[in-house]
Amino acid sequence: MASTIPGQMMHVPLLISSILRHAARHHGDTEIVSRRIEGDIHRYTYRDLQQRARQLAKALHALGVEPGERVGTLAWNGYRHLEIYYAVSGAGSVCHTINPRLFPEQIEYIANHADDRYVFFDLTFLPLVERLAPHCPQVRGWVAMTDRAHMPASEVSLLCYEELLDAQDSDYAWPEFDENTASSLCYTSGTTGNPKGVLYSHRSTVLHSYGAALPDSMALSARDCVLPVVPMFHVNAWGLPYAVPLTGAKLVFPGKDLDGKSLYELFETEGVTFSAGVPTVWLGLLDHVKKNGLRFNTLNRTVIGGSACAPAMIRSFEEEYGVQVIHAWGMSEMSPLGTLCKLRVKHANLPREAQRALLEKQGSAIYGVDLKIVGPDGQELPWDGESFGDLLVRGPWVIDTYFKGDKSPLVNGWFPTGDVATIDADGYVHITDRSKDVIKSGGEWISSIDVENVVMAHPAVHEAACIAISHPKWDERPLLVIVKKPGAQVTREEILKFYDGRVAKWWIPDDVVFVDEIPHTATGKMQKLKLREQFKDYVAPASA
Ligand code: ADP
Repeated sequence: MASTIPGQMMHVPLLISSILRHAARHHGDTEIVSRRIEGDIHRYTYRDLQQRARQLAKALHALGVEPGERVGTLAWNGYRHLEIYYAVSGAGSVCHTINPRLFPEQIEYIANHADDRYVFFDLTFLPLVERLAPHCPQVRGWVAMTDRAHMPASEVSLLCYEELLDAQDSDYAWPEFDENTASSLCYTSGTTGNPKGVLYSHRSTVLHSYGAALPDSMALSARDCVLPVVPMFHVNAWGLPYAVPLTGAKLVFPGKDLDGKSLYELFETEGVTFSAGVPTVWLGLLDHVKKNGLRFNTLNRTVIGGSACAPAMIRSFEEEYGVQVIHAWGMSEMSPLGTLCKLRVKHANLPREAQRALLEKQGSAIYGVDLKIVGPDGQELPWDGESFGDLLVRGPWVIDTYFKGDKSPLVNGWFPTGDVATIDADGYVHITDRSKDVIKSGGEWISSIDVENVVMAHPAVHEAACIAISHPKWDERPLLVIVKKPGAQVTREEILKFYDGRVAKWWIPDDVVFVDEIPHTATGKMQKLKLREQFKDYVAPASA
């Protein structure tokens, strides 16, 4: 082959600071609205954000934070958290968002593993900080994200965020460096073993933001008003803190109040058009609007992912409230966006039910993410919508190695997601399960997600988890664990009958148990591992 010749375009590195510079310069007066921990609503603009992020970058420098060092956050979605995102990464250090919903022991492990130099925290997390401080000797300072007037008394010596900023002017130029430099760090919740760190780069983050904004992705534009419900401590709020300023849309941050009433109020008063979150949060919001006979006046679409979104929820949003649901799939190791579900032109004339069946899938890949499914022998499986196997991914915003990890998680250059899926001829992915949640009955697999989805359409069911219990003949059989809606009455027999004609007979659970609550992980997923432990010795009447 003849030798290639170099292209002759500029070498401008893809840096996170360029997103902020763009937003401040081209959408300078667009608002960022935050419900503060202090209780009030705070408003300012992208121009203000850049100014304060520059002050903070100088403050970090004054504190001795070096490029490459990690700065932790324990914070809700709000403007100060956004300032930290941009100041820390923009200066070449690493913004490490810690999920405060994890167990304190896990947080301590994470802060020490990441070797955080400073930790910035919202006042809500003071008790957590007081518990952590003695066990995190490498943390040089704990910064309370508030002003002097709201500084709490504490036995831990605290720094005051607004004082740090006040001591600096905004005369600061964002440094230029290699786009492959580390920018931020998130740990996966680690349902088994210790949490693992995913270290994103400036390049991966900027490319992921472009991908997120595309029309068949989140379709973000400067005409939008975006409220990320998904926390900034959970996979960088699915990239919205970068993708939204990149498009110049208005941003609304809900702070710590994620109940249906508080969210609905913000949606309406700020004119929110787009939102994103996990199914459990939307359960609360839908309950609130239903109970109070409310409507959404501006919200027109929402991305739901992180766990499978039940078809009943998609239907409710669309048919009762005229809000388009975009079902999405991804994971921390993928920045997180992988697939999003929208119809194509050729689907326009399909009967509504067929369109719905498609929209319940997790969707097709964004450019930048390549997918394949493989069987137990590692052989690639066909895209026929029926063959299911382990889902593997690759792309410029997919993990290569875990932070301080000693061995590569990749298999021949592909990252195994731990999910089991089918892919149809058009590339629409249907996640049937996490491989550890799949129910293996008599050599065949039952999709726990599909079993749950059916019963979520029952009017008395608030939440449902389907788990494997052991069975003498079939190895495993499905058990359904249900939380009823408040005040609802329903029997085991009625629930089982509901499956008639909706799934293959052998998929129908062997039994139903009603519980007050299903345990959730720190990222809002049902903790099936815990349920499996709880029901380890459960014997269903049919097999007793
Ligand atoms: P963790 O819970 O491991 O910290 P993530 O929040 O990154 O990590 O979760 C990623 C996992 O969540 C995926 O591998 C998949 O099992 C599950 N998931 C995410 N979105 C969906 C979806 N739309 N449908 C089904 N499962 C999903």
